[in-house]
Amino acid sequence: MTGKRPGYFDENSEPISARIATGLHKIGLAMKQQSWQQANGAGLSATQGQILATLVANGPLTGKELSERLGVTLPTISDSVRVLVEKALVTRSADPRHPRASLLTPTATGASLGARARSWPEFMADAVADLSPEEQRAFFAGIVKMIRMLQEQGLVPVTGMCVTCTHFRPNVRPGTSPHHCAFVDAPLSSEQLRVDCPEHELAAESARREVWEQFMRRA
Ligand code: SF4
Repeated sequence: MTGKRPGYFDENSEPISARIATGLHKIGLAMKQQSWQQANGAGLSATQGQILATLVANGPLTGKELSERLGVTLPTISDSVRVLVEKALVTRSADPRHPRASLLTPTATGASLGARARSWPEFMADAVADLSPEEQRAFFAGIVKMIRMLQEQGLVPVTGMCVTCTHFRPNVRPGTSPHHCAFVDAPLSSEQLRVDCPEHELAAESARREVWEQFMRRA
C-alpha cells in the first residue's frame, strides 16, 4: 500500500506563521506610505500628525504621556512638539497635576488637522470591512494576542488596551460577555475589547500578567 504523495505546495511552502508575518509587513508598509502621504499633504511629519491625532482623541497631555502612548522617545516628541508650537498648532500651559510639566493642547487649526490624521487608518477599515464577521472576530482575537506579546517585548506601548488596564476583569461570568469593565461597571465580550481606550489606566506589571493568564483561560 502506498501513501499519498505530498503535493508541490506541501513541500514548497513557508509555514503559515511566516506568511502571516510577511502579510503584516506588507500591510504595515501600506499604512506607513499612506500616513506619509497624508502628513506631507498637511505639511506635517508622521509623528506630528500622530501627536495631533492623540491630543484630539485624549485631550491635553504632557510630552511624557504622549511618549508613552505613541511609543516614541521623549526627545523625538519634544522636537515634534516644538515644531507644532512654532506652527501655532499646539499650545503649552501649566499642568495642575505636575508643577514642572506642560500640558499640550491643540489649537483650533491643530485640532482640525488632528481629526483628519485620526481618520488615516480608514482605508484599512474599509479593507477589514470586506472580511466576514467570523473572519473579523478571528482576526481581532489574533491582533489582541499579538499586540500583547509585542508589549511584553517592549515593542508596542502598553497603553489603551483592556488587557493591560487596571479596570479590566476577564472571564468573571459565563455567557457571551464574560469580561467586565469596572470603570463603567459594564460587561463586555471579547470582540468588544478596546485597543485604544482613553479611559485606560495601566495596571501594575504583576497584575497585568495575572489578568492576561485569566483572560487566556477562555480566549
Ligand atoms: S477603562 Fe477602557 S481599557 Fe479599561 S477596562 Fe474599561 S474599556 Fe477597557
